[in-house]
Amino acid sequence: MVDRDKLEIGMEVFFLHKKKVFTGKILKLNPTRARVKIRGKIVYDVNYKALLLGNPLVDGFEKDPILRETSNICTAMQLTSLLNELKADYGAVYKSVFSRDEMQKLSSLEACFGKRETYCRAGKYLPARNEIVITASLINAPGHVIKKVLHHEIFHIHFPHHGQMFRKLERSYKKFDEAERYIHALFQTIRFDNIFRNLRICTI
Ligand SMILES: [Zn+2]
Repeated sequence: MVDRDKLEIGMEVFFLHKKKVFTGKILKLNPTRARVKIRGKIVYDVNYKALLLGNPLVDGFEKDPILRETSNICTAMQLTSLLNELKADYGAVYKSVFSRDEMQKLSSLEACFGKRETYCRAGKYLPARNEIVITASLINAPGHVIKKVLHHEIFHIHFPHHGQMFRKLERSYKKFDEAERYIHALFQTIRFDNIFRNLRICTI
């Protein structure tokens, strides 16, 4: 939401409509709505409450929209097999930092999905339960994305915080950047969904 008085013709703005983020420039400032031009073709009359300043799109966000409804839903059993794949592929990396006790914890580690869709944190490790909880937002995500989160959380068996060493180790995951981009774009989508869910956006 932006203050109407702060807006000027030609300013870059964005808003969400039908779960898509639209970016454009202000053409005209009407009493209750701003007329926004999208890519030189389409024009929207957008309520000031729904407008935000700037251009929020990161690389790849617009180009690769995430089809949250169409991908496979990951089950608890699949989570266990993803954990096993990680242990097979990165066992040596874990062994290089974990103590004997910690390796023991790794072998009995469990994973599940949380109940809520969040857009800040992808997962957390609960030491008392020796369990990783993955945000419900990732329930439809591809395996390599969930594995990246599991890989991160596994290191919390040893490291309570994200130090330099932690960051270096978590990057050992092969598809780290690809998975990061997916999570970033997904969280952005969910965040925008939440922001704009109750706002009315009119087209002309
Ligand atoms: Zn962490």
